[in-house]
Order: sequence, then C-alpha cells, then structure tokens
Amino acid sequence: MIALLILGTGGAVPTRDRSPSASWLTIDGRSLLVDPGPGALARLVQSPHGPATLDDVDAVLLTHLHLDHCADLAPLLFALHSVVLVSRRPLQIIGPRGLAAYLDRLRDLYGDWLTPRSRPLEVLEVAGGDTLGPDAAGRWSVGGPDGAGSLEAFAVEHGEVRFSRENLGWRARDRDGRTLVLSGDTGPCPSLTAAATGTDLLVVECSTPDELAVDGHMTPSRVGALAAAARPRRVVLTHVYPAAAALDLPALVREHAPVAVVLAADGDRFEVTGDPPPLPELRKALP
Ligand SMILES: [Zn+2]
Repeated sequence: MIALLILGTGGAVPTRDRSPSASWLTIDGRSLLVDPGPGALARLVQSPHGPATLDDVDAVLLTHLHLDHCADLAPLLFALHSVVLVSRRPLQIIGPRGLAAYLDRLRDLYGDWLTPRSRPLEVLEVAGGDTLGPDAAGRWSVGGPDGAGSLEAFAVEHGEVRFSRENLGWRARDRDGRTLVLSGDTGPCPSLTAAATGTDLLVVECSTPDELAVDGHMTPSRVGALAAAARPRRVVLTHVYPAAAALDLPALVREHAPVAVVLAADGDRFEVTGDPPPLPELRKALP
C-alpha cells in the first residue's frame, strides 16, 4: 500500500492556507520525508497522520534543491544533533547528483552542528532512470532488492543547474504493483508523461494559471494535456501559487481530459489501494 500525506501544497511563497512543499510518503510500511520545505518538520510531527517524533524519520527523498523543497534539511540535521533524539538507525538523504556537495556547503557554514549525534548519515545521489529498493532493514539502495516496493527517479524539466545537474520526479511502486508518481517541479516533458502513464495516482504540480505560464512549471492546460496523454487513474494537484489557487483548477484540467482530479489541501492524505474510492471520498482531510 502507498499513502501520501501532503503537508504543504503551496509554492515558494507561504500563504494562510498553503505552506511550501513537504510530504510524507509511505510504501508498504516504509516512510520517507519528501521535499522538506520551510516549516516541514513542525508540520510533520504535528500531523495526526505523521510520525510522533523526528526519531521516526529514516529517509529523506528530494526532487531538487530549491529552498521551497529542501530548506528544512539543515534544521533536520541540527535537530538530530540534539541529545533529545535517541534513534541510532541510519538516516538516508536521497536526491539528485550534487546533493553531497550541497550538504558539504551547509557544513562549511555550520560545522558539526549538522552532524547527527547518534545516527550514521548516508547520502545517496541518484540519476534519472535509477531504481531504488529497500533491504530488510528498510535501507534504500540503487538496484536494491525488488519485490518490497521501489522508487524510480526520472529527470524532469525545471531548469535549475546551480546545485544539481538534474531535477527529479519519483515513481513509487508497492509490492502489489500499485504506483504513485510525484512530478516534483517541472514543465511538460516526455519523461513525466512516461512516468505518469497508467499510474494509479499522479501528484503533479500546477503552479500558475495558463495566463501566467512560465518555463519549468505546470498550468491547468499543461496538466490536462499530460492527463490526456498519460491517462492516470487519478490526479492530485499541488504546488499551487495564489493566482492558481483562486481558480477551479480541477474543472480547468477536465476541459482537456476526462480524469478524476482534485486540488490537494495542506494536511490531505491520499491512499493508493487496490480498489480506489470514488473521487468525493478520495480526500481524507484532517478534522
Ligand atoms: Zn523548484
């Protein structure tokens, strides 16, 4: 089973309703903190659907290194330097090539303050096309054991090359073959269409209205064209800036594709199960 708790559905600019990116992805009982943007740690432990403590975060999964997707990496490492946290399990940080150099730059500033006190730190750089699997202890590795879920990276079109040579999307698959695709930040591109083709749940950014379209991001008509080509079973829209959030985005997407689509809200949790619920019951919002 795959579940995705979306902690932040906004873009780089926080609003009252939408925080920057962050989510908690669970694949067959193994969880990863995805794209911890600003404020992600607090929202993670405050959510009734998240872990009770940062001791339960064993892996961080990154799409790219823009601050609205990774600003809470340093606070996470700083927190793990504290004596308050006691886990001794390894912490894995998984992301695009360039991630290790990025963390080195942070250590240039903060030194040992970013060294977890009791946990080995493993940095795993991944290229588009790589597939990761978890071992029995839940440790992910490229080409790791299959059959207990997997994560496949695909390169997307987002333009940033300052920190990493690629920006990634992720396709999660559980042991029963069900899939969830995270677009990351991207414009339309063949790799996104390929990853989304036939997926059970496509979680895709929809940053701006069509009138404010920019390279490297999606709009309602771009998502609609993607859905028409890839035919995902369901679509969840996220990474929404205020001008887009003011629109009826699902209706705009459906003008291009007859697809089940909802706009996510902060705190929504989506499950990928063998028998998807009808759309109105798709959202399991916080009370
Ligand atoms: Zn970005």
